[in-house]
Formats: sequence, C-alpha cells, structure tokens
Amino acid sequence: MPQTLFTPGPTPVPDAVLQRMAQPIIHHRSAEAQSIFRTVQPQLQKVFGTTQPVLILSSSGTGAIEAAMCTLGQPGLKAMVLNNGKFAQRWVDMLRTFGYSVVDANIPWSNPATPEILEPLLKEHPDCAQVWMVHSETSTGTYSDIQALAHCVHEHSNALVCVDSISSMCAHEIQMDNWGLDVVATGSQKGFMLPPGLAFISLSERAWKAAELATLPCYYFDLRKARVTALQNTSPWTPAISLICGLEVSLQMILNEGLEAMWSRHTQLSLQLRTSVLASGYALYSTSPSHAVTALYIPEHIPDLVQRLLQDFSIRVASGQDQLKGRILRVGHLGYYTAEDIIFVAGALSSYMH
Ligand SMILES: *Cc1c(COP(=O)(O)O)cnc(C)c1O
Repeated sequence: MPQTLFTPGPTPVPDAVLQRMAQPIIHHRSAEAQSIFRTVQPQLQKVFGTTQPVLILSSSGTGAIEAAMCTLGQPGLKAMVLNNGKFAQRWVDMLRTFGYSVVDANIPWSNPATPEILEPLLKEHPDCAQVWMVHSETSTGTYSDIQALAHCVHEHSNALVCVDSISSMCAHEIQMDNWGLDVVATGSQKGFMLPPGLAFISLSERAWKAAELATLPCYYFDLRKARVTALQNTSPWTPAISLICGLEVSLQMILNEGLEAMWSRHTQLSLQLRTSVLASGYALYSTSPSHAVTALYIPEHIPDLVQRLLQDFSIRVASGQDQLKGRILRVGHLGYYTAEDIIFVAGALSSYMH
C-alpha cells in the first residue's frame, strides 16, 4: 500500500506535475527552457505578492536563506532572530556561522513571535540591520502574524524584515510588497506541490540596496548573480530543470484555484482537523496554530503513535524534533489536500482514543 504523506514537507505531488517531470529532459539554455522561466516568473511574483523578481535556486529552502544571509551580510552586522522553534534556531546558528552579531529573541516554543516581544528589543538594539522571523514555524505548528511584525520593525527601526515563509507560502496569505517584507524565501516541497529541490526567494528594493554594501564572501549563492540571469529568463548555473518544468504545472494549478481560494482551503482544512482531533481527545501544542501543519501532544497511552499510524494506515506524519521528540507529532496539510484527506487522517487519529 502506498504511504500517504501528511508531513509538512515533502508534501504530495499531483499526478499532472509528476507526469510533466517524467517528460524527456530539455537543455536549460534552450528556447523552451527560457520560455518556461518567462512563464513562471510573473506567476511566482503573484504568489509572493511582489513586483520584484523571484529568484529560483536549485537547493532546498535553507539554501535560499543562506543565500540571503551571505548576499546581505557584513562581518559583525547585527541581526535579530525571533526565535520560537527549531527552524528559527537554525537561522540563529547560520547567522553566527557567517559572522553576524546575533540578537537571539528567545521565545517559548509553543508561542508565536509578537510585536510586544519585538518592540522593546528593537529599542534596545537600534543598530539592528535585519530581523528574521518564521511565518509558520514548522517544528511547533505555530503561526506568527508577520504583517504586524513587519509594521513594528518599520515603525521602530531601519532593519530589513527577513521572512522564512518556507511552510507558510500557499497556506497563509502573504503580501510581500504591501506588508513591507524585504526578504521572503520558500521551498518547492511545501505549498508548491513539488518534490524537494527548488527554493524561491525575492528581495525588496531596500534589500538590494543593502546587498550593494555587503562584503561577505559568496559565489554560487550570490543573489546578485541570480538576479542578473533571472532578468534574462535563465539561471546562473545548471538549474534543476525538470523541477522547473513541474513548477510550470503546479503554478498553473495554484493560479487556477486562485490565491484567495487556496488560502481559504488551507484555513478550512486546518480548522477541520483541529476541531476533529480536539473532539476525539487530543491537545494542541501551539498557542497560535498554523494552517500548514498541526502539532498535537502524543497521548501517554500511545507513545508509538507515529509508528502505529504508519503500520495501521500507511499514514506518515512527522515526529517532534529536539526537545519535542516523543512529545508531539505533526500533521501536515500543506499543498495538495482535500477535506476527504483530513477525514482520513483525523479518523485514523481518533481510532486510538476509544
Ligand atoms: C521545511 C522548512 C525549512 C527547511 O527547509 P529545507 O527545504 O529543508 O531546507 C525551514 N523553515 C521552515 C519553516 C520549514 O518548514
């Protein structure tokens, strides 16, 4: 029996996308490849809510974040991380690796980042050049209101608003330009209904200005190079062209559904799952649940719940990470899911609670 993925990356890939990617390989400098780049660019801009170019990198989401950090960095530059989970912690570690001076706003893991936490920190660190935040913290299933956070940053500082929207994009509304987001990065294996291997990132005008002053060494992941080639409908290096062919199909599906309809489907599905599992006796981990992934405490009487779901229903969910290992499980509902899928996974979960 094929496994059913309910993980917050990778997520299920529609047949139409799989079939497109199974077509004979094309050359990445061909007219056909250029035409695909030309088609997907305005579509990606729509999904991001930006008029800036959206750069396509052949890497996972982490690669796009690394690219931004090295393209915008200087040794000792001060950057803050609204650190409320494992992925935010990764950005703390990565900034330190690149020689930034890091302000680690340590937030309890089940909680969102809020302007109340952010504002005093901005006042304490007026020289902060970047504020990093995670829109949907996948390790804890936590949503943070980045529109409010971005507003707070711009009100109190000149820092760039840098957003990990890796698991939020397509599940939650995002408006890069209207909300004043300066860096937005995501990956293919989450809301975009593709296999892992591509990352998408866009920088605001202000961020490109900051890039001119940057002095950290980078080459392959230098976003200035990627911007030059994006404007020519190509990429600086050999891209994962098969995935980009798949992207053309998945973006068509996303835009056929419509962004508003897609966001509202994710809202509905996450509410449906939460209502259902709460009724069967589960407890939510996060105080601000994401629409991309639901984190539940593992009930004491079923410590092997993650393995049981796999054995009994061929359902793969994600375990907790780090201090949450064995304490929570995470059910992804990001991308290609319907109400029937939620009934299936909620029914499976409830079967252990009688
Ligand atoms: C998946 C994920 C990442 C890591 O992305 P990779 O594609 O595995 O590099 C980072 N942040 C969040 C919020 C994620 O969900």
